[in-house]
Amino acid sequence: MAYNGDTGGEALRVIHMIATVLERTDTMGIFEDLMAGAKNVVDYAGKKTDDVVELSKLKYQSSQLSNELRSLYEKLGSAVYSMMKSEYDNKELIDSLASEIEEVKNALQEISEKIAEKKEQKLCPACGAKNDKEAFYCMKCGNRLVQVQQDDAPVVDEEKASESDGCAEEKEQADQQ
Ligand SMILES: [Zn+2]
Repeated sequence: MAYNGDTGGEALRVIHMIATVLERTDTMGIFEDLMAGAKNVVDYAGKKTDDVVELSKLKYQSSQLSNELRSLYEKLGSAVYSMMKSEYDNKELIDSLASEIEEVKNALQEISEKIAEKKEQKLCPACGAKNDKEAFYCMKCGNRLVQVQQDDAPVVDEEKASESDGCAEEKEQADQQ
């Protein structure tokens, strides 16, 4: 296309101009620097877009699961009600609904954690409030926010360990980490 050719020519003229201003003779060097810069911008934009897509996917899954949970609660309520009204024993149905509810709740919790992670937030294990990733204590209930450790063994700081000696509560919390 003639337009692209013109743009290319224009770009080259700009690079020559920059080279003149910078009093650099390595025009190709400047060109490479510019291209590297452009590539970084593209990579950054691409990563951002992935994050946004991923986040909206997670939010969609979360709302689907919430709907599912609501409908399971409805079914459970209706099963309990009909059991109360008649002699009909719904216990099996109630048990299976309850375990389904448990599964959906766990899946929902997992997704909420992923969303919080994407948003660089931390969920309070006690009340579920969203806190800043760097927060040590929950801003809603004051619960200590412990870092979730994926590693098999927690690394205990010796200084910290001796500090918490004699304090049962702190020791217990450290053990939970
Ligand atoms: Zn909390």
